[in-house]
Amino acid sequence: MTKELIKISYERLANRPIPYQYELSYSGHFKGFNASITRNWQKIHLKLSKEWREISEEIKIGLIQELLIKSLKLKKTKTMNIDLYNNFLRNAHLAVPKTKTHPVLSEAFDKLNQQFFNNTLEQVNFALSNSLTTLGTYHYGSDTITITKHLLEDLTLLEYVMYHEMLHKHHKFSSNICRNLHHSKEFRDDEKKFPNWEEQEKKLNNLIRNKRISQRREENSNNSNFNNSNTSTSWLKRIFS
Ligand SMILES: [Zn+2]
Repeated sequence: MTKELIKISYERLANRPIPYQYELSYSGHFKGFNASITRNWQKIHLKLSKEWREISEEIKIGLIQELLIKSLKLKKTKTMNIDLYNNFLRNAHLAVPKTKTHPVLSEAFDKLNQQFFNNTLEQVNFALSNSLTTLGTYHYGSDTITITKHLLEDLTLLEYVMYHEMLHKHHKFSSNICRNLHHSKEFRDDEKKFPNWEEQEKKLNNLIRNKRISQRREENSNNSNFNNSNTSTSWLKRIFS
């Protein structure tokens, strides 16, 4: 595959010659079917994970078109290639090796899989993060559930967030004309099947708020130039993705 794929992707999408210079490279830094796009002035640089090498060009065009739409803020459209790419992504987990595990996360996953999914969810990769803003994510391309390490001290809350991420794997995502809908109504209804979900939600907010306060105190004592900024409740808004 050559960088000309970027030109083809753009021109099919925008119906005009590409006005940018472009570069494409493969990177070993990404996990699974990951990719990124950067733009400096008139030059677009696309990086794809090595896994993309073997994938058909028509699917790659869909990936590139999605990235171009986001990066260049083009009008959102669905093309045949974007459909192909989304279908590919829904099943990409089957091709991703399961190499990363974590004893606590994997135990929670197995328990929930039995409790809510009749053991129908296939094994995923697990990772821990250090984040206090993103408590959990499910990444389709690398089939990885990432949970913040701050939840390791409360297993019920960890399970609550893990359940949310497992629902992403279960529901995949439903595409409509303009966007991919990750939190559909069905998703939200399922989410409420978790025992005492409202209470978990409150406890989760409290835990994260306290963690953030103590983190700020630490920063405060470590940094003499620290300005006491407003503590706004808006940082309580949980960010699940
Ligand atoms: Zn989500």
